[in-house]
Amino acid sequence: MINLNQVESVRQFNGDPNYVSSLYLRFDSQRPKAGADALAVKSIIQTKKRKLARWGLTTHQQQEVSRDLGRIQDFVNEGLDRRSSNGLALFACGPRKLWEVIYLPQGFPSDLFINPKPHITPLLSLIQQYHRWGVLLVDRGRARFVEVYLGAVGERITINSDVPPKVKAGGFAGYSAKRIARHIEDRVHQHWKEVADQVFRYFKQNRFDFLILGGNLATLKEFWGSLHPYLEERIVDQWAVPIQISLSEVLQRTSEVEMKLRRQWGDEKVGELQEKQKLGKAVLGVRETLKALQLGRLASLYLVEPFKVSGTHCSSCDYLGERGERRCPHCAQPLEKIPDLGEEVARQVLGKNRPVEYVPAGGRLERFGKMGGLLI
Ligand SMILES: [Zn+2]
Repeated sequence: MINLNQVESVRQFNGDPNYVSSLYLRFDSQRPKAGADALAVKSIIQTKKRKLARWGLTTHQQQEVSRDLGRIQDFVNEGLDRRSSNGLALFACGPRKLWEVIYLPQGFPSDLFINPKPHITPLLSLIQQYHRWGVLLVDRGRARFVEVYLGAVGERITINSDVPPKVKAGGFAGYSAKRIARHIEDRVHQHWKEVADQVFRYFKQNRFDFLILGGNLATLKEFWGSLHPYLEERIVDQWAVPIQISLSEVLQRTSEVEMKLRRQWGDEKVGELQEKQKLGKAVLGVRETLKALQLGRLASLYLVEPFKVSGTHCSSCDYLGERGERRCPHCAQPLEKIPDLGEEVARQVLGKNRPVEYVPAGGRLERFGKMGGLLI
C-alpha cells in the first residue's frame, strides 16, 4: 500500500549525475500465467536499453543503469505480490542507494523511464485522485473508526463504553424506572460525546476528506448532533449495517461510494472540457485528442477506464492513429494494430510528465468519445 512518506522521499530524490530507473506495471489479472511478468519486464527493459546510448549516457552511466535494470528484473522474477493491488511503481538508483517498491490500487501503463529524477507524475496524479475516508461505526455503547485510503483499510479508534442496555418498558416500577432510563440516556450521550471528541482529534491530526456513518439508522440520527460541524459537513453517506462488519466489507463499500463520487467528478470535468472546447482550450473525443497529442498541445488527459478501443501505432515515429489507418501520415511506414489505444496515449502523455486522470466507465465521458484533455 502507498505510504506517503515513501512517496515524498522519492519525489525529493535527485540522482544527478546518476540516472534513476522508474518502472510502472499494470496488473491486468490477479493470476497471470507463470513468468508473464518476468517476460513483460524483460521486453520493456530490452527496448529501453537500446535507446540508452542514443540518449547520450556515458558508458559508466549506462553500466550503472544496467545494474539497476538487472536488480529490477531479479525482483520481478521472484514474483510480485498482487493480493490487494492493481499495479506497481518501482524506483531504483544503485549508486545513490534508492530502491522503493510501491504497490498501487490502480495500475498505469507498463513502462520504464530512465531519467536523472524519478518519474513520479503517475504516482502524484493517483494520490490527487483518491480521497481519504473515515468510516464511523457507532451504536449506543460502542464505536469503531476506520480509515480507508488508496485501497488500504485500518481501524484507528475502538471504543467500548460501559453503557447498560435499554430498560424494557414495565421492567421497573414507578419513578425509579424513569430515573434509571434517564441515567442510561446520560451515559449514552457521554459515550457519543467521547466518540465525537476522539474522531475530531483524529481528524485534526490526520485530515480525511469524507465521513461515512454506519450502524442503526435511527441511532445514527440521534448521534449525528454530537459531531463537530467540520465533521458533519463531510458526511456523504450512511449505511444501515451491524457495527461489527469486517474491514474488507468497509473497504468494499467505501470503494463503491468513491467510484460513484469519481463518476460525478468525471461528469463535471466533461462539462468543463465542453466549455473550454468552445474557447479552443480543450478537446473531446479520440480524433481530436490524438491530433492535439501529435501537435504537442495536450496538457492533460482524461480517459475512461477501462478504455479498450483498438488503434494503430507507428513504430518508427510513435504516431498514434485510429483503427483502420494503414500508413503513417508522417513517415509513410505501415502502421501496426494495437489492442488498447488509451493505454498508448496515456503512456505518451505520462512520458511527457503530464497528468493522466482516469474516469470510471458509465459517466458522460463515455458518451463524449471516451477521451479528452486540456490544451496548452
Ligand atoms: Zn511514423
